[in-house]
Parts: sequence; C-alpha cells; structure tokens
Amino acid sequence: MKVIKKGFEHATIGKELTCVGDGFGKGKGGCGAVLHVVPADIYVKHFSIGDYDGTHYWFVCPECSAKTYVKYDVFHK
Ligand SMILES: [Zn+2]
Repeated sequence: MKVIKKGFEHATIGKELTCVGDGFGKGKGGCGAVLHVVPADIYVKHFSIGDYDGTHYWFVCPECSAKTYVKYDVFHK
C-alpha cells in the first residue's frame, strides 16, 4: 500500500503562532490567541510604495480578525 497523502499533514507543517495584531489594516492589537497556522493560511502581498519595495506575509486571526505579520520562512525554521 502506498500513501498518497499523509493524514495529520497540518500537524507537522503548521506552526504555533501568537496573534499579536501588528499587521496593517485594522490597526488594533491582537488578542494573544495561540493559533495553529499552516502555509495556506498565509496571505502574501508585494508592496512598492516610493522607496519601499518588499513583500509582506501575514495571517488573520479567526478570533479577532487582526492581522499578524510573519517572516516568509516561518515554516522553514
Ligand atoms: Zn486574535
């Protein structure tokens, strides 16, 4: 028998991240919830404003909807 897709996949590739609400947008602090975040939960957007040029990565807390920035390699440490 060959495993096509492992169960509990998210348990191994996910990260426990804390909602700190430092993302742009809503402008409010996070609720402090510890969330199991997987790559599919991460939003990616490239910004080019004036001299600034960079890509932002963040997730949105399901509890309080605040955005929290993460590093692009958060799942590869
Ligand atoms: Zn939150």
